[in-house]
Amino acid sequence: MAYKEIFWMACDSTEQLRAEYGPFHTREEAEVEARKMSFGYLLRYEHMIGENDEIQEVRCIFIELSDVVTPIRTLRKLHTRCATCGESSVHEETWQAEVWADIHEFEHSRHHVRLFEQSRAEGLKEIVGWRDACA
Ligand SMILES: [Zn+2]
Repeated sequence: MAYKEIFWMACDSTEQLRAEYGPFHTREEAEVEARKMSFGYLLRYEHMIGENDEIQEVRCIFIELSDVVTPIRTLRKLHTRCATCGESSVHEETWQAEVWADIHEFEHSRHHVRLFEQSRAEGLKEIVGWRDACA
């Protein structure tokens, strides 16, 4: 007889290149671990198992833990913008934003680059003092 097998993973994003941790048998276990790691999502896998124990179908459903504050590395986009001349750029990684700011502030003395993070939940938000933190 065909049956359904369900398990849960904690994951840091819904992107293809996400980090996953698990599996867990219950949503509660996965959620506890996700919160420990500041992972913002749970992934529910459903395997439809056929008569000969083969997997016939895989379904997965993402569940967002909306109250988990995800660290910078999992944010979708970083925006740099020079407060002095207005030149701006978009980056995937914090180090890329740092390189852009380094080059810009090197080429234009006394310009000051600000960093913003963009997330679906909060929109654009400035990260104050980001270069002091990275120094
Ligand atoms: Zn500038």
